[in-house]
Amino acid sequence: MFWNEEIETLARPELERLQLRRLRQTLERAVRSPFYRRRLTGRGEDPPRIESLEDVASLPFTTKDDLRSDENYPYGFLTVDREQLVRLHSSSGTTGRPTTILHTRGDLDSWTELVARCLTMAGVTASDVFQNMMGYGLFTGGLGLHYGAERVGALTIPAGAGNSRKQISLMRDFSTTAIHIIPSYALRLPSTFENMGYDPRDLPVRTAILGAEPHSDTIRRRIEALWGLKAFNSYGLSEMNGPGVAFECECQEGLHLWEDSYLVEIIDPDTLAPLPEGERGELVLTTLTREGMPLVRYRTQDLTSARRDHCPCGRTHLRIDRITGRTDDMLIIKGVNIYPIQVERVLMRFSEIGSNYLIVLTREERVDQMTVMAELEKGFFRGDLASLEGLRSRIANELRGEILITPRVELVEAGSLPVAEGKAIRVEDRRNG
Ligand code: ADP
Ligand code: ZN
Repeated sequence: MFWNEEIETLARPELERLQLRRLRQTLERAVRSPFYRRRLTGRGEDPPRIESLEDVASLPFTTKDDLRSDENYPYGFLTVDREQLVRLHSSSGTTGRPTTILHTRGDLDSWTELVARCLTMAGVTASDVFQNMMGYGLFTGGLGLHYGAERVGALTIPAGAGNSRKQISLMRDFSTTAIHIIPSYALRLPSTFENMGYDPRDLPVRTAILGAEPHSDTIRRRIEALWGLKAFNSYGLSEMNGPGVAFECECQEGLHLWEDSYLVEIIDPDTLAPLPEGERGELVLTTLTREGMPLVRYRTQDLTSARRDHCPCGRTHLRIDRITGRTDDMLIIKGVNIYPIQVERVLMRFSEIGSNYLIVLTREERVDQMTVMAELEKGFFRGDLASLEGLRSRIANELRGEILITPRVELVEAGSLPVAEGKAIRVEDRRNG
């Protein structure tokens, strides 16, 4: 089922022609902003000449720091008059000062169209009751999905984040069939169901859209089992609107990224050189339809790979792999590079382990120490210390196999680690302070 079959299945040569045309338009527009006028034009006012899509590689990158520097923040990227702007959104600020994006009416319309395509991919239609459990406000997960869900005609409940009992009452009273939820919250909410004497599997919810934070495929499968539904991975970032950038089709082998709206590159984050198809690196995106604040070669800091091979669903837009983390998520411990998702993948192999964990970094006598704290699955511990100790050492061994150092492992009671209302916090760095 397609929302916009013509565009979603456009043959690659046509798709690339469309991209080239839109890339040129984007550059023409971009140089109207103070930032890109400085960055992209030489002595004249003309945008750089682009003969083919590959020429994009000759343009400079745009970074998160460009967006939030005192020189450019808040209006330095604008290409239109202030009167043409109708909405402001900003990032969650996971890695520093939030970045802010301003939208024209046209921008919001294009964004809504992309979200409608994604929801249709997940099978959400006008007959669904769609409960959006993401934060409304500056965060893009709320309003971004909201308008897309309304556009496909679903009965849309702007439930917002948190307030678990209320969420459950809404689901029960209105027979919610589809939800949009942060993975860590989807793992936690079933315990509130249990306290209220219900089982989420008894509800009619059959589709979950999971976004906003990295999660492994095992976590997805756990969520599916807990809720009795099918879960789809949804990727986006506020600098590229928010959700609606890339989304899984029913084949669930990667996320289609809407190439009529974004030009995709994967680069080596250290050398900045383009990487061959299929290799993992940093995702770089150029907006192709943005009016108010076009971004050229934006370094997302997210790590993935891209493939353009045939997908059985019929969509021709390339697929990116599940995001494994951000370039700045990387921990360097005892000279070894480690991503939190590697730890997650190991922990989730153990059915005795619940879904919340925390990596704590400390410095002891000038040596970095890594402690992995993991919650036990409810009902596992029955006072048998020997089996607990056995589990702990098996986890430590498997972690060493994956990350090449042996961290300390602490097993703690279910529900004892801190939880965040928004994106989960997986690392606590206590090394400086
Ligand atoms: P912030 O960078 O402050 O978290 P946003 O709220 O815009 O800002 O969040 C976008 C980021 O969230 C992405 O760059 C990515 O790191 C992460 N993200 C969003 N969706 C996913 C997903 N499905 N899988 C992994 N990471 C995701
Ligand atoms: Zn597909």
